[in-house]
Amino acid sequence: MPTNRRELLSLTSLALLASQPLLLRSAWAKAPRPSFDLFASGVASGCPEPDGFVLWTRLFPDTDASGGIDSAAMSAASIGEYKKVNWEVAHDTRFRHIAQKGSAPALRQLGHAVHVEVNGLEPDRWYFYRFICDGNASAVGRTRTAPMPDRMPEALRFVFASCQHWEDGFYAAWRHVAAEHPDLVVFLGDYIYEGGSSRSSDRIVARLHGLRRAQTLADYRSRYALYKSDPDLQAAHRACPWIVTWDDHEVANDYADETVFPPETGFPERRAAAYQAFYENMPLRSSALVHGMAGLGRAADAVRVTQRHAFGKLARFHVLDTRQFRDVQACRDESRSSSGVVRPADCPALAAPNRTLLGPAQERWLADGLRADTQDGPAAHAGIRWSILAQQTLFTPRAYGKPETGPVATDTWDGYPAARQRLLATLAQTQPRNTVFLGGDIHQNFVCDVHAHPDDPASPLLASEFCGTSITSISGSSQKRLDRLVAQNPYIHLANSRYRGYGSVNLTPTRWTTELRVVDDPQRADSGLSTLAQFVVEDQRPGVSPA
Ligand code: FE
Ligand code: CA
Repeated sequence: MPTNRRELLSLTSLALLASQPLLLRSAWAKAPRPSFDLFASGVASGCPEPDGFVLWTRLFPDTDASGGIDSAAMSAASIGEYKKVNWEVAHDTRFRHIAQKGSAPALRQLGHAVHVEVNGLEPDRWYFYRFICDGNASAVGRTRTAPMPDRMPEALRFVFASCQHWEDGFYAAWRHVAAEHPDLVVFLGDYIYEGGSSRSSDRIVARLHGLRRAQTLADYRSRYALYKSDPDLQAAHRACPWIVTWDDHEVANDYADETVFPPETGFPERRAAAYQAFYENMPLRSSALVHGMAGLGRAADAVRVTQRHAFGKLARFHVLDTRQFRDVQACRDESRSSSGVVRPADCPALAAPNRTLLGPAQERWLADGLRADTQDGPAAHAGIRWSILAQQTLFTPRAYGKPETGPVATDTWDGYPAARQRLLATLAQTQPRNTVFLGGDIHQNFVCDVHAHPDDPASPLLASEFCGTSITSISGSSQKRLDRLVAQNPYIHLANSRYRGYGSVNLTPTRWTTELRVVDDPQRADSGLSTLAQFVVEDQRPGVSPA
């Protein structure tokens, strides 16, 4: 299996081949029909465009939720080097009115993942899709195309979510997401957690797995197979297209670029394996695997999740990667995997003006995109109503105590204050009509006003922020502390660590409405759901108000 970067780069051409429909030649090996469910990992779709989307599946072995995923390797061997998988896109659930069909290869080098980039479809409408292999049909997924770039749709309903630690809970939240029938799910990171089984720890868990800490490509693949064996997660993928980015746990806790603590030889190779497994398991375009990170200024990495997705003129998602290009967290204790908290006074490095969270190239890419959102006229994405920064972590300052004295977390934007200020300057300069930050990572709900100087409520309002909570991952923060934070900081409307769930957004040209959905009991797959709070943002009035 490819574990170094050169081999990963060579996979780019394979992925390009694999993602193109109808490129098959006839010479497919005849393999015996496998005795397990080839589609046990489910199906997914993503990256909606006006004329198409990405369809995804991964031919995979019998996964059982107890974590016995080690059978993966054996089963993968019995699938063979490659397999031809047919796909169909239809107007109806019985596949009588086929809109398009074709076949695509599932290659061993890509973990028998199938990525199909369908185009030539009609804008702004729903389709059904399925895969067929060796006479077995997958479950049927539902997905949609985006409206044409010059259209102003009446509404977009989407869910944002992050952080789904397997052992911390069941995925009832995903069952409720599927039941909402959103147009889109925006996933903001921590799709998997890379840690070893909690079996021998005293951690209280909802369900165990038997996997070791993920280090190799096979480990990461098994971790995705485990997570994707969950029926509620599969249902959410079948419900609508997803837009996905990653955070740290798709690789390792609190890593920064090619650095992890405690230091680890071969971490760049581990990261490359983790990135590849992410690509294999997500409905991403093959352009996510790139030679030389064209446009992002890095020569050695080969998976890019930075991307943009427009929904007509109503919304454009600027999907960011705050992991791959960031500077190492300031003043870290290098013996610990967590970057922890510091008092700014004790850590002058924190405020260094050149420190970056996005990397200079991605900062420019974002500025260019925000500028384009504001342009008038016929340009493809001109006149965007809502510019959405879909990124990993809390943007608003979270200083426990006085803002200047901290302590602050070094892994969030609080650890990169100069970078935050640069982004705010970009917003002030480019003036998108409406800017909304979405985030995850902290396993808490935060609803905030974003000011030009984020901890100075007297400075102009530039944007609004909705962060978290988590699908399952537990929060270490006490509610008492958060209540104090809200009382002391008028720009924080809500801070809550108690609940697991997701955000449900109803977006129209005049109003953004976020409903914070929370599950009754993350330890139960059949948990009910309620709405913790509801907030609105009005067009051309940055800042959040209770609904
Ligand atoms: Fe997380
Ligand atoms: Ca995280």
